Amino acid sequence: MAINWFPGHMNKARREIAKAMGKVQLIIEVLDARIPFSSENPLVPTLRGDTPCIKVLNKKDLADPAVTEEWMRRLEKEPGVTAVALNGLEKKTVKALVPMGKALLPADRSKNKTVTTMILGIPNVGKSTIINTLAGRTIAKTGNKPAVTKMQQRIYIDHSFALLDTPGFLWPKLSPPSCGYKLAVTGAIRDAVVSFEDLAFYAIAYAARHYPEQICARYKLDGLPDEEMQILEAIAQKRGCIGRGGIVNLQKVSELLIREIRQGSIGRLSFETPAEVDEEQRLLQQDA
Ligand code: GDP
Repeated sequence: MAINWFPGHMNKARREIAKAMGKVQLIIEVLDARIPFSSENPLVPTLRGDTPCIKVLNKKDLADPAVTEEWMRRLEKEPGVTAVALNGLEKKTVKALVPMGKALLPADRSKNKTVTTMILGIPNVGKSTIINTLAGRTIAKTGNKPAVTKMQQRIYIDHSFALLDTPGFLWPKLSPPSCGYKLAVTGAIRDAVVSFEDLAFYAIAYAARHYPEQICARYKLDGLPDEEMQILEAIAQKRGCIGRGGIVNLQKVSELLIREIRQGSIGRLSFETPAEVDEEQRLLQQDA
């Protein structure tokens, strides 16, 4: 992941998506099920207008199922939105997006005319994986270019359903600052603006509150100490992240923890709930 979003990139992405929007009747916005709020592009609601939208909570295999349920209920309340949780690596479930998309359109629309769909989202949420599965071949490369390529081709999935061949590649939420942490912890932003140590402190603080049993089970700990630093030290002891003189190698244990969270080794963890996001938004508005 080597892209930093500058205002120029954002404007270009916005223009290109707005232009492509005129050609599509359905939007599939791919989100990361572990952070559905933070992985949403802030402009999609404005860009899509009345166009129906399927919000895919992808990577559901990595997210806490109970929290994913809460998000589904929340997202379904948005006008014109249908939410679905998916494991993008399971071909059968991805293919179910086609009938679901057709069902969202007015009957006269979906009967005879081709429904053209654009898949969009921030980096690394699984857009290309979904496009390639729907198309049955490798079309979308995981090129991290802002926005969409100039010449978009339609790929016909069947006689009445087509996809634009390149995903709309959009920037992630940049504020509040917690979004940046969550995006980095889950791997959407890899050229982390913050250090692994900062990320590990953020992640372990959240996981210790919500998923203490899973952490204990993974690292064979009898219980969790109160302080983040002590938890990281306990993990370091268990996993041999110890330097000369028996001193804990904080960088090494931080990298280990983040890697294991990203690949799901600790279990299915979500990093935000609707209630937490609401509370954070409320506090931000209060401060404004
Ligand atoms: P894009 O940047 O949005 O096009 O993302 P990609 O399709 O390249 O996917 C990013 C990474 O996530 C790849 O390593 C995929 O194999 C992986 N991936 C995609 N969908 C899922 C999923 O549902 N679960 C898991 N565990 N990994 C997924």
